[in-house]
Amino acid sequence: TQIAQPPYLSSLNAPQRDAVLTTDGPVLVLAGAGTGKTAALTARLAHLLYTRRAWPSEILAVTFTNKAAREMRERVGRLVGEAVEGMPWLGTFHAIGAKMLRRHAELVGLQSNFTILDTDDQLRLLKQLIVAADIDEKRFPARSLAGLIDEWKNKGLTPRDVDAGESERYANGRGGELYEQYQARLKAVNACDFGDLLLHVLTILKSNREVLEQYQQRFRYIMVDEYQDTNSVQYLWLRLLAQERRNICCVGDDDQSIYSWRGAQVENILKFENDFPGAKVIRLEQNYRSTPHILGAASGVIANNGGRLGKQLWTELDAGEKVRVIGVWDGPEEARRVSDEVESCQRAGKSLDDVAILVRAQHQTREFEDRFISVGLPYRIVGGFRFYERAEIRDALAYLRIVNQPADDLAFERIVNVPKRGLGDKAVAKLHQLARAEGLPLSLAAARILDSDELTPQARKSLGRFVGDVARWRDMARDLPHPELARQLLDESGYTAMLQAEKTTEAAGRLENLSELVRAMEEYENLGAFLEHVSLVMDNEATREDPKITIMTIHAAKGLEYDTVFLVGWEEGLFPSQRALDEGGTRSLEEERRLAYVAITRARRRAVIFHAANRRIYGQWTSSIPSRFVGELPADHIDSEATMSGGESLWRANWTERADPFADVSRGTGRGPGWQRAAGTLGAKPGGEWTSRTFTREPTRVVESRASAVSIGNKG
Ligand code: ATP
Ligand code: MG
Repeated sequence: TQIAQPPYLSSLNAPQRDAVLTTDGPVLVLAGAGTGKTAALTARLAHLLYTRRAWPSEILAVTFTNKAAREMRERVGRLVGEAVEGMPWLGTFHAIGAKMLRRHAELVGLQSNFTILDTDDQLRLLKQLIVAADIDEKRFPARSLAGLIDEWKNKGLTPRDVDAGESERYANGRGGELYEQYQARLKAVNACDFGDLLLHVLTILKSNREVLEQYQQRFRYIMVDEYQDTNSVQYLWLRLLAQERRNICCVGDDDQSIYSWRGAQVENILKFENDFPGAKVIRLEQNYRSTPHILGAASGVIANNGGRLGKQLWTELDAGEKVRVIGVWDGPEEARRVSDEVESCQRAGKSLDDVAILVRAQHQTREFEDRFISVGLPYRIVGGFRFYERAEIRDALAYLRIVNQPADDLAFERIVNVPKRGLGDKAVAKLHQLARAEGLPLSLAAARILDSDELTPQARKSLGRFVGDVARWRDMARDLPHPELARQLLDESGYTAMLQAEKTTEAAGRLENLSELVRAMEEYENLGAFLEHVSLVMDNEATREDPKITIMTIHAAKGLEYDTVFLVGWEEGLFPSQRALDEGGTRSLEEERRLAYVAITRARRRAVIFHAANRRIYGQWTSSIPSRFVGELPADHIDSEATMSGGESLWRANWTERADPFADVSRGTGRGPGWQRAAGTLGAKPGGEWTSRTFTREPTRVVESRASAVSIGNKG
């Protein structure tokens, strides 16, 4: 008789089981969406623990998001029972990188309590360097330099590796020089940026044989989910760590590679077999997630991409309903229709947790948030930094950071005069001078400058009080629970009072956010752990309470699944994005198409696609035509419908008979191929009047400019 199979095996099909049981040697699982790649990887992890092939601390398991890591941890726990005590090396590349870097920070000239900068801090720092280097920031924006440095880091290039050609890409060849200065500056303030979490670790592994060997020995097994979206530095990392034992298992899907804009290289999948000769390649073809109509729709779209590895997918599920495609008049109507649909799901007894709205660009969420708030539907926003991006949160965090780490100059700068303490620009400039001259962090320079007569009596008094406060908070931090510390800090600094004095609803909202922050802190062991969390959070998912609709970007939805999925804003210029259209060529367009594939395949039972005829974005109306991806959906798998007030029928309707919806809105100037395409298709109003309706928006950039607006608003 056979011994009963362990529980984690019985629910898998044969190729999945093969992936689980082939524990030794390199394994690549290459398979389409919903075929159980993540399920197999999770079972594999359970198997390694269950059979005692490795201790939890001997397995390196990489997921793409923090949320995915959490889920995997929970699932493994359930599969093998109580046996799992912590999996210290289960997490995202960044989380694992941060952990390794803290252990060996001194090898790259940092201290282990280094700060992880966010984009805002990073830009501020770069701006200073650019100004100091006498470069015209208007011509060569800090943002471009930041993007470039990020790209270099993703490629695994340190300043030394940046050659003249690369350097040429910023300010007439000064890119490399600024990169070097930036790294030096980071070191001086004991900080690093996101890219450094990976690049520094790579540097450490490459230049310290003992450290490398220690990790090569430690990690008996290495596993990576969403392998198609690893970038070069991550790839180099993995290759180094896996070289010795060669027990590496990666799972991925070339059709779901959607992060090339962040340096991901789908080629890594193809390289796997070269780097690990003899690798076993396993293909999974049965899809367990979606109905045939959903799969058919997704496959029909992705079939338009070239150069695919190609996969067959099949499912045993019932046909279910066709994918619905709904054309509406404008954004608000789209939100209304979606909320109506959601309510009918609710009436049908479905949980809101099983419903998701997927947007192409972050800014699209606002419309739905407004609607849901007004009709009282609970929702959560996943992905991005929404909460922690808010100005008051960043200020509060800066206070906490300066208490946690005195050398954190960026935090110091952010709050030295917030709330206003009567420290003028002059005083701050003097402080900077001294800090630079003496090579001191600002907080120490501040203490020093008080002993001189550099400052006006007024400035001296305020700075003195501030320096005293910080010292006292630092003392308090030793005994006080960190949430309590935060509370007192906000009170004593005058920050709370500043908001209270405003007496506006906006300020009230900000105060609420701050209490929310303090509440969030309670979940962490200490201040350091909390700050680390903040630096790493990708998803600010609320705690598990009442069921809620999820709103998120397609990027954030990778790997997830929902019963019902609403895919909104499928219009040219929004999805595919204007940037992809402007770039021309097939590369970026194919990435958009992979996004469409990811989007559709998130649905288990029901997918509804929306496109609106008109959008109002940042005060400007935009007329739009349905996404080409709508046109690529195979007719057999969809049901199209257009509402009375808009939709596809409208495109064929006679525009002149309709009241002009734009009559009372401001008009911009038309430019860019997106507009021309739209105008060409609409083409109903001769004489160029329609040219006043523009495609001036480009989703990604809008999000960025919004983020920088936060920081500017705050500094003022
Ligand atoms: P994606 O490419 O979107 O990341 P995936 O390949 O990782 O998808 P999973 O998320 O692991 O797929 O699985 C999809 C769904 O199928 C999940 O609900 C999972 O529980 C279920 N599933 C996976 N394997 C099996 C199986 N052998 N039998 C039944 N259900 C399965
Ligand atoms: Mg998966």
